[in-house]
Amino acid sequence: MSIAKLLAVALAATPLVAGASAPAPATPLLQAIAADVKADELHATLARLVGFGTRHTLSDTKSNTRGIGAARRWVKGRFEEFSKQCAGCLQIDLPEQTVTGERVPQPTAIVDVLAIQRGSDDPDRVIVISGHLDSRVRDVLDANSNAPGADDDGSGSAAVIEAARVLSRHRFRATLVYAVLSGEEQGLYGGKLLAQYARDHHWSVEAVLNNDIVGNTLGTNGVKDATHVRVFSEGTRSTETPEEATRRRYNGGEVDSPSRNLARFIDGLAGTYLKDFGVRMVYRTDRYSRGGDQVPMLAAGYPAVRFTEAIENYTREHEDVRVENGVHYGDVLEAVDFGYLAQVARLNALTMAALAMAPAPPAQVKTEGAVSMDTTVSWSATPGAASYVVWWRGTIAPRWTESRAAGDATSLVLKDVNIDDWFFGVSSVSADGYASPVEFPGPAGAFVPAATGSSPAK
Ligand SMILES: [Zn+2]
Repeated sequence: MSIAKLLAVALAATPLVAGASAPAPATPLLQAIAADVKADELHATLARLVGFGTRHTLSDTKSNTRGIGAARRWVKGRFEEFSKQCAGCLQIDLPEQTVTGERVPQPTAIVDVLAIQRGSDDPDRVIVISGHLDSRVRDVLDANSNAPGADDDGSGSAAVIEAARVLSRHRFRATLVYAVLSGEEQGLYGGKLLAQYARDHHWSVEAVLNNDIVGNTLGTNGVKDATHVRVFSEGTRSTETPEEATRRRYNGGEVDSPSRNLARFIDGLAGTYLKDFGVRMVYRTDRYSRGGDQVPMLAAGYPAVRFTEAIENYTREHEDVRVENGVHYGDVLEAVDFGYLAQVARLNALTMAALAMAPAPPAQVKTEGAVSMDTTVSWSATPGAASYVVWWRGTIAPRWTESRAAGDATSLVLKDVNIDDWFFGVSSVSADGYASPVEFPGPAGAFVPAATGSSPAK
């Protein structure tokens, strides 16, 4: 067979999407999940959340109609309803920690609302979706004024609840966690609590999808963008040791953290499943000098990205609700674009399902080939993987461009592909064709740090 013919065969066998630049064939399960995500469900959820008046972390917790306590109980109730409809498939837990700090003058209980859907094959491998329930106005300590928090972050919380509603109707190989967090505006407390919970439960967290500010399409400057979502991902991992940094600086890996390859995976899914909607990857941990609940998860060693609308409206965020000189301030329900929010929620649900049906990315990915015309890529066998695909790209390319199927082998020699000129990675694939994200070799790219085995870095 000619090289061209061999290549054609290999490409035809390349399954689904693994962070490539070209869209891959869709599966009926993922198409059904995308179709199930509904704008009117998101609208109903968000109207309820806004109806609690304020969801400030320091607000009332006793009332059943106003404040963070009532809002949390309502979210818990929604998870319970979904669980009833799937024969108890959701385990609901409310981790709690009392904190004080610069933005928490009195000891206050931070409570996260978690729903956990156990995986059938790989229950310790965990995919998390998160948003923060708490809201605020201009004064971060004002717990009494109306703080509708429709976009920040009612939108993200609604996306989490919608993902739970849709995905709890299906079974997945890995565990899905739906996390509605508190205390974000006071200092990322809910994210820290979630990271601690994950460690305490020895979760092997493969991905965190943090949704924060995902429902607005009209920028402060009047520019509209309803067809993109930004996905922020860190470049070099937060938990890198000085020795690892030295090696990475020399051989590369600045743009191949597991979070970054997760972002490429999400970008690829949007290309396959969503019409007129795409990812704008941002090669940064978060927006400039701003933060979110993915940050404490990254600090714990877990791959994590942040979803945020393509263009923000700063007259809406963190503002007192009012009209001043004809300008509407405040984070109100009327400003949310529910068709857009549905697209973001859809992409999240697709990502969770795709990750949870695929095997884990391969561990122990290595490349060899210095002073050779060929490159050898190797990895260790992954539970649930029927085959593997080796990917590579030019060192300045943003996305994976080249691939070759490796069958069920755990190494592949790439003839006449010089190690100096390319970055490499490997994806594992299930028998029914679900591919994992691409894992870049060594500690810079490992989804699960090798030194600690299946448990993440402390
Ligand atoms: Zn926020």
